[in-house]
Amino acid sequence: FRFSRRPDIGDKIRVSFEFFPPKTDEMEARLWETVTRLEPLKPNFVSVTYGAGGSTRERTARTVKRILDQSALPPAAHLTCIDADKDSVDQVIRQFVDLGVTRFVALRGDPAAGVGTRYQPHPGGYANGADMVAALKRHGDFDISVSAYPEKHPESPDFATDIEMLKRKVDNGATRAITQFFFDNDIYERYVERVRRAGIYIPIVPGILPVHNIRQVANFSARAGAHVPPWLSERFEGLDDDPQTHALVASAVAAEQVLDLVERGVSDFHFYTMNRADLAFAICHMIGIRSQPSERGIGAAAGSAAA
Ligand code: FAD
Repeated sequence: FRFSRRPDIGDKIRVSFEFFPPKTDEMEARLWETVTRLEPLKPNFVSVTYGAGGSTRERTARTVKRILDQSALPPAAHLTCIDADKDSVDQVIRQFVDLGVTRFVALRGDPAAGVGTRYQPHPGGYANGADMVAALKRHGDFDISVSAYPEKHPESPDFATDIEMLKRKVDNGATRAITQFFFDNDIYERYVERVRRAGIYIPIVPGILPVHNIRQVANFSARAGAHVPPWLSERFEGLDDDPQTHALVASAVAAEQVLDLVERGVSDFHFYTMNRADLAFAICHMIGIRSQPSERGIGAAAGSAAA
């Protein structure tokens, strides 16, 4: 670890947390515990994903509404255009706007059929992330995040094509890019350099995936356009049946990555929480972020801070 950072660094760091919409009452209760624990860290925003092929439309809206109604957190709604015509996407945008949402994460999405399925734009739909940004902009002046791929999207023939898509998203009004997860900070740094050389100046916020389960991460990494370096797999070797040590190692790995990025001058981080607070909370603590009492929101309603 390189611990040479200044003690006041936490004041300059901003974080956001990503959740997925829960399927069952039990998962909903767990998500809400997570939201309650993370709320006092005062994230810049929290985002709620949209299921493959738009399959969680109602659940995403319900989760976003609950966050708006019952917490002090600013929610961002993820939105995809895959398998939907323009009218349906516009309808979903209006639904979110009616709820009071002003932040979006605009995406293309992956085919619901999964691995090996080739993406085909809907004949009457928006074709990609850049089209989605333009569609959102027609409805209002929103804060719009988009995706970025430090190891390039698996469907992109090369980095130039990939970055050209990012440029189109920025030209259409994207305010920030959030990266796919990665574990090698040199890859992120090289990517940001390429992006800047292409004349793109929006923040490229690293997406940090705390490794709750190394097997799961290894399984979906290739599809996601991210690789798991051998040194990472080695750190988790033999820990399949030892969840406690797995969690401790995961916390150390993520802290090492984030602290190194802070050293490199990164000040914004997006955490893929998998609806779990423990690792994200611990890492935020290590980068100097502390719970703050809330005047509004869950902690305030309960009469005490949750963390
Ligand atoms: P785009 O940016 O539109 O395209 C991805 C790449 O494909 C481009 O960089 C481009 O190079 C290439 N490409 C696209 N069209 C063409 C073309 N016509 N010709 C050549 N190349 C082309 N998925 C969900 O289903 N729900 C979510 O909530 C969700 N949230 C995400 C959040 C983040 C921060 C990230 C990084 C990803 C998320 N995803 C989500 C996954 C995402 O939907 C997939 O990675 C999907 O495959 C691409 O979507 P996109 O918006 O990145 O696509």
